[in-house]
Amino acid sequence: MPKLPLCPYCGARFLYSEVRRSQNKKTGTCPHCEKPFCVGGGARRMILYAVSTLLLVGLNLSLLKIPSMNLTYLLAATVLGVAAVRLLVPYTVRFFPERPARSDSAGNGKNS
Ligand SMILES: [Zn+2]
Repeated sequence: MPKLPLCPYCGARFLYSEVRRSQNKKTGTCPHCEKPFCVGGGARRMILYAVSTLLLVGLNLSLLKIPSMNLTYLLAATVLGVAAVRLLVPYTVRFFPERPARSDSAGNGKNS
């Protein structure tokens, strides 16, 4: 079962639309605890694209074996498949704690 990313600090859940907005950014900010985080999951997204491309090619090849199949229907099936994959992309996104800028001060718990 695919899951949407959670805030790495407070574990807050994000809405699908919020994840979708941040999926192409490198960093984001949690609206709940207002801490910055890194947006990751690029490797998972590559796997999703690779697997779905193979599945779509397989689907096209098997649809081609149906005698009454025409190219319009084939194209529609492919477009639907690509649209479905794009809907799944937010589920591959993961949020990681942002690495703090290098500093020698050990001041923890300054905020809040
Ligand atoms: Zn948070």
